[in-house]
Amino acid sequence: MKTLIDRILKDGRCYPGGILKVDKFINHQMDPNLMKAIAIEFIKRYSSTEINKILTIEASGIAPAIVMGLLLDLPVVFAKKKKASTMDNILSTTVFSFTKQREYNVVISKDYLTPQDKVVFIDDFLAYGNAAKGIIDLCQQAGAELVGMGFIIEKTFQHGRKVIEAAGVRCESLAMIESLDDCKIKLKGID
Ligand code: 5GP
Repeated sequence: MKTLIDRILKDGRCYPGGILKVDKFINHQMDPNLMKAIAIEFIKRYSSTEINKILTIEASGIAPAIVMGLLLDLPVVFAKKKKASTMDNILSTTVFSFTKQREYNVVISKDYLTPQDKVVFIDDFLAYGNAAKGIIDLCQQAGAELVGMGFIIEKTFQHGRKVIEAAGVRCESLAMIESLDDCKIKLKGID
């Protein structure tokens, strides 16, 4: 997706350990027009698939997911990283975060992820696929159909796609980063 790739090259910053900072337009300050373009692209890619809900995980997946939900007139549900004391009837899984180097619990209410649901999962980054693995687990526990996953940015050198495809789930990403070596952003198809 050209507008996204141009923006990553202009405003993305490399950090040690294979981390890309996109705080200027995705993770802190957000660009709503770019989010809209991202949502439209995900909608195009999943246009031949029946979906009744968008699934994401807090926090950075919420913006693109909500724009998608708005455009498709579908509900959006996000998996939470902390269980509120008022939450009951929950499904839970454990995810390892490589950016924070620790495990955390992810929960979702059984009321909002059910065997009737056909969901697309949307998130900002695909790295090693740990969050994706947790979401696949939550969908299996709920008996919901996970029709596919969509990531704004995939870092192909961390191989998270393998985890998703091994589970038989479709994976779409809008920009593929092949390397962040020597603090240079190398995108697939761009020299
Ligand atoms: P994974 O679970 O696939 O290893 O990592 C995906 C999650 O970690 C995403 O939800 C995202 O929040 C975070 N993440 C992974 N890599 C990066 C990165 O390079 N930059 C930022 N900002 N977040 C990342």
